[in-house]
Amino acid sequence: MGAIYQNAARYAKSRALFAAAREVIPSGVNSTARATWSGWDPHPLFVEGGDGSHLRDVDGNDYIDYLLGLGPMILGHRPPKVTDAVVKAIREQGTVFALPAAAEIGLTRSMIAAVPSLEQVRLCNTGTEAVLYAVRLARAFTGRNKIIRFEGMYHGFSDGVYWSKHPGLNVAGSDRAPVAVPQGPGLPSGIDSSLIILPWNDTALLREVIERQGHEIAAVLTEPVMCNTGCILPEPGYLEAMREITRKHGVLLIFDEVITGFRLALGGAQAHYGVTPDLSTFAKGLGGGFPVAAMGGRKDIMALVADGTVSMAGTYAANVIAVTAAIAALQELSAPGMFERLYKVSDRLRLGLERVFDEARIATRVVGVGPVFQVWFSDHDIRNYRDAARHANHELFRLWWEGMLDRGVLFHPGAYENLFVSFAHSDDDVDRTLAAARETARAIRN
Ligand code: PLP
Repeated sequence: MGAIYQNAARYAKSRALFAAAREVIPSGVNSTARATWSGWDPHPLFVEGGDGSHLRDVDGNDYIDYLLGLGPMILGHRPPKVTDAVVKAIREQGTVFALPAAAEIGLTRSMIAAVPSLEQVRLCNTGTEAVLYAVRLARAFTGRNKIIRFEGMYHGFSDGVYWSKHPGLNVAGSDRAPVAVPQGPGLPSGIDSSLIILPWNDTALLREVIERQGHEIAAVLTEPVMCNTGCILPEPGYLEAMREITRKHGVLLIFDEVITGFRLALGGAQAHYGVTPDLSTFAKGLGGGFPVAAMGGRKDIMALVADGTVSMAGTYAANVIAVTAAIAALQELSAPGMFERLYKVSDRLRLGLERVFDEARIATRVVGVGPVFQVWFSDHDIRNYRDAARHANHELFRLWWEGMLDRGVLFHPGAYENLFVSFAHSDDDVDRTLAAARETARAIRN
């Protein structure tokens, strides 16, 4: 986009650090989501620290933080109970033993009690791993090879699913028959023949493809809410139809709840929408900011893990930090009234933003569920990636993002990312965010 910060002096130390980082770190950052081409143009902010709902950059700017580490900081930064529990465990127990510990049983029982589809669960470290295992297990269980996945979604960077989430419509095939566009070179050749890419929110097409090819399809892999192309909700009945069609044809339904899990509800999107998948994956919401992930579901499918047919390994799987953090985080999330309060604060923000843009007469759709949403600068409803590619105004989004940043409100600069609200966000944070939004909306309208 070739953007510059209008208020460049405000971010001068970040700029200098970025120049130094680029000398030794490719692209200056350690994840693509922080790269200039992911929106952080001309440079990302360098962070000094965070506390609750706030983050401080190296230039001394304080922000109300809706980036939240791309989701894991659901309890806010440095949540005291989780942090204390982890520090204590490190001091008193250690970190990695390559042997099981009793705490794993209690944690797993809590997850099973919270999430409708879980009968058994295995822990791992990242969402990428969890999805990789779910897909492998689905192939092993069904004896089939193909996976249906959807344009605009992201399921981590393992070879089998690492296909461009936003390929651009010039290369992505037709609306009814999208093609798999690799994220870049380096993937094994031929692997795309195991994927069927479909547009999301299209029940008729999904039904048609599964009726025709169901015998070779192991699983439908989907986020229950599309959180990797801004935020796009499932149309009423879509998840239910997915469930019905997959069940009828012996295709497994995998919900990738890496973003929605332990966030839309304690039981994730599957509890929120009342649709029960066969397998699910979890990560960001689970560990209160510490790396921990999980894959689980039906016991008859997990039986292949139980007897070693499908191996799930990992030196760091269920390490003390991960298990301790997840236990402490789940205790916090399970406290009575937590999600009601989270929704109250989040809805006030989302509906408040809707009003701000209405009053400023800027065509937007503010779309999301509870603590995850995005502002679409568009006068069209967005149902899938193709709608977003055709109708979302990224230039206006950049103006909005930078206006908010200058006014002390942080979220990801990509229109295809989300705003996250944490349990630490207060009514005062929302009031201040809406005041900044009012000013920004007036400024970008002119
Ligand atoms: N699945 C979804 C839906 C995600 O949004 C992500 C990451 O953003 C992943 C999987 C990969 O998770 P991780 O970054 O922990 O590997």
